Amino acid sequence: MLVSATQMLKDAVAGQYAVGQFNINNLEWTKAILLTAQENNSPVILGVSEGAGKYMGGYKTVMGMVNGMIEELNITVPVAVHLDHGSFEGAKKCIEAGFSSIMFDGSHYSIEENVEKTKEIIAIANAKGISVEAEVGSIGGEEDGVIGAGENADPAECKLIADLGVDMLAAGIGNIHGKYPENWAGLNFETLANIKALTGDMPLVLHGGTGIPADMIKKAISLGVAKINVNTECQWSFQAATRKYIEAGKDLEGKGFDPRKLLAPGYEAIKATVKEKMELFGSVNKA
Ligand SMILES: [Zn+2]
Repeated sequence: MLVSATQMLKDAVAGQYAVGQFNINNLEWTKAILLTAQENNSPVILGVSEGAGKYMGGYKTVMGMVNGMIEELNITVPVAVHLDHGSFEGAKKCIEAGFSSIMFDGSHYSIEENVEKTKEIIAIANAKGISVEAEVGSIGGEEDGVIGAGENADPAECKLIADLGVDMLAAGIGNIHGKYPENWAGLNFETLANIKALTGDMPLVLHGGTGIPADMIKKAISLGVAKINVNTECQWSFQAATRKYIEAGKDLEGKGFDPRKLLAPGYEAIKATVKEKMELFGSVNKA
């Protein structure tokens, strides 16, 4: 069932668990994540970056595929299709294309401009029942080619953006996208607690969920994190399983070249990773 992320995240805050956002890249990713959510009776958020949206043929193609699967695979758990790190123009396009949730990432603007643009996006999205995520304090690592250092968001700025009426707030707390470096200092729980103290029940979003140790994930959830973004980890799972299949020469045996066979181990690997994350985040049986 396609829904906005608003209610599922309110429920997550109240129930002290987090909903996973798993980024999609193609049909295999989408089917693997939707079926795993259904099998585990878990709400789920499908993340679509602007780059991935373009890769899949455009936002309307993404929505055609997801809506078709929800209907034909009988997906009854709550599913939100969410623009990940959207630009101002990208957010408007996704609202038009039927996304149920969008992130407007104005973290690279001045706080004044971030406020103005976020307000405008909220007005357009709210009129259509679409949930909105905003970001304060840029999250390090690579976001579609842009590399930043992990920052700690200013709690007062978080409060300012939260009060605009967003449904969820991404705040930098030392987290980064992609692989964490050996000398990573870990999540800054002091910053997270300060943000939580000012923003109350606002669902907080943890980007860069790949490679954060389980105990830090659990502590973050206890401090108000209700949405955790996982992207790189599914890519690694898919890659490792596909590599194993080819290195074992399976693609050379019989009809092993058939894409439905060639991509099957990667598909199963994504399913296993998503299930593991849903268990860790506590969203199993919360649909
Ligand atoms: Zn992110």
